[in-house]
Amino acid sequence: MYRTHSCGDIRPEHIGRRVTLAGWVNRRRHHGGVIFLDLRNRSGIVQIVVNPETSTSAHDVAETVRNEWVVQVEGVVQQRPAGMVNPALPTGQIEVDADKIKVLNPARTPPFPINEETEVEEMIRLKYRYLDLRRPRMQRILELRHRIVKYIRDFLDERGFWEIETPILFKTTPEGARDYLVPSRIHPGEFYALPQSPQQLKQLLMVAGVERYFQIARCFRDEDLRGDRQPEFTQLDLEMSFVDREDVMSLTEELFTAMVEELLPEKRILAKPWPRLTYTEALDRFGRDDPDIRFGMELKDISDLADGCGFKVFERVVKSGGRVGGLNAKGCGEFSRREIDELANFAADFGAKGLAYLAVSMSGEHRSSFAKHLDDDRLQTMMDRLETVPGDLLLFVADQPHVVFESLGRLRVHLGDRLGLRDPDVLAFCWVVDFPFLMWNEEESRWDPSHHLFTAPMPEDVYLLDTDPGQAHGQQYDMVLNGLEVGGGSIRIHDRGLQEKVFQLIGLELEVAQARFGHMLEAFEFGTPPHGGIAPGIDRICRILAGEPHIREVIAFPKNQAARDVMANAPSPADAEQLEELHLRLVEGAPIAEMMDKDE
Ligand code: ASP
Repeated sequence: MYRTHSCGDIRPEHIGRRVTLAGWVNRRRHHGGVIFLDLRNRSGIVQIVVNPETSTSAHDVAETVRNEWVVQVEGVVQQRPAGMVNPALPTGQIEVDADKIKVLNPARTPPFPINEETEVEEMIRLKYRYLDLRRPRMQRILELRHRIVKYIRDFLDERGFWEIETPILFKTTPEGARDYLVPSRIHPGEFYALPQSPQQLKQLLMVAGVERYFQIARCFRDEDLRGDRQPEFTQLDLEMSFVDREDVMSLTEELFTAMVEELLPEKRILAKPWPRLTYTEALDRFGRDDPDIRFGMELKDISDLADGCGFKVFERVVKSGGRVGGLNAKGCGEFSRREIDELANFAADFGAKGLAYLAVSMSGEHRSSFAKHLDDDRLQTMMDRLETVPGDLLLFVADQPHVVFESLGRLRVHLGDRLGLRDPDVLAFCWVVDFPFLMWNEEESRWDPSHHLFTAPMPEDVYLLDTDPGQAHGQQYDMVLNGLEVGGGSIRIHDRGLQEKVFQLIGLELEVAQARFGHMLEAFEFGTPPHGGIAPGIDRICRILAGEPHIREVIAFPKNQAARDVMANAPSPADAEQLEELHLRLVEGAPIAEMMDKDE
């Protein structure tokens, strides 16, 4: 037996008891003739006193040990002397008087300190991820993630869900990204695709009569790793039979609300039930379909005031079918010209050709790029609409609607960060519903599904697919948390004819559809129950709940921004023999790989 207790668990009630502990040396200190070792394992830290008067041999060993060595210690728990008590440590009242120390494994000096919270370059952290994960901060994250997943499993089990694994080697399951392909050795020239999600399989489980399925599922999407993305990530994948939108949404809402209340009682859920916004409302008010509703500063449309207002830029845009949107940067009325220019540059990165402003000082004076063109009444109406008081800064973008939404929506979040309005202890869940069923793909001049191929249109909009598809709405819902889409789902098509019509609408030739999804179409002919589901992203949710800036922080072994595992150095070249077996031949020079590695 290596140990009787875990380091962090020793308490005053153990005083007088003989214990055996094992762990890592967190720190070693000399104090007169006595050596103090802080012994650490994942449960915490305990102080070991190595007194030569207790045992010279233990003292001799303690002389040799260094940080991060793995040791076993035997001794008796004792009260710390008065004045040595450390109230900041759960074990701070006691210490272990060691009489035996055994080195289980020495350690090289680690490339960064494990025993303190220092900034370490991410590249180094990822290369030595096993040491990075040894740090208490990362251990807390691993534990939180475990608790979250366990909570999900227990909750769903109680409600009659079955956890079922689905294959990783499968066939294309598109979710809008590129597939990872795996060449088949046995079938020359043929490939498996790694699932972008288990979407088809969970639907087929509904055909199979499973009724309530879930899986903590790994998904694979080969896309550029902007923002919160990883080539492989984890979803709570869930599907239910005989349900409508309401059923799926309320179950999901109940699950995550109860989980936060149990696991993170220090966090505050902004609103219960979670607010629901239509897609149009989300864009109009926040400029985004993943709105951060923790703070106000909502967008306001002033297009009606622009027509004939005297300011040519506004007039022209509105005439050409655009709109003028504004937001009130509360309390920023004293921003300098330079600060306002910085905001304009920020908006320009998201397409805004200009940022008109009106700054109202605390004493009520105006500075503005356009107000002189407007008559007093109109200006006042505009200011009233934006609920302006002295000390406010009004910002306007005039352009096509998508540019107004994108630039002002981003600017709002940027200002929210800058003004400290995005409180990490507040969890603002909301639903976005009533998305357009299809989105027009400018580049390829065709419709794309706004969610995925298998989402059903609203029943009352099915006829529009023949007449005016752009007007149809889909039966989908997005789950948003603190300004990030953390899950999406929908009620599915369960009728072969309708599924074929959707394939056709998005320009998928029937033959191609048959080759790719023939098994789905066929399954729909054997009695498919109405069904729907959702897939909340575990990584994103964990990272928000853990208060971390990126999902890499909550994934044990993530890839870097160039999709590389820098610890194991993957991907890496394959042997000529392996390629031969897989019937593959490499093309000389791989420009894409070189390019990707550069942006590390
Ligand atoms: N398969 C979808 C996704 O990965 C989620 C769903 O519709 O259930 O986004």
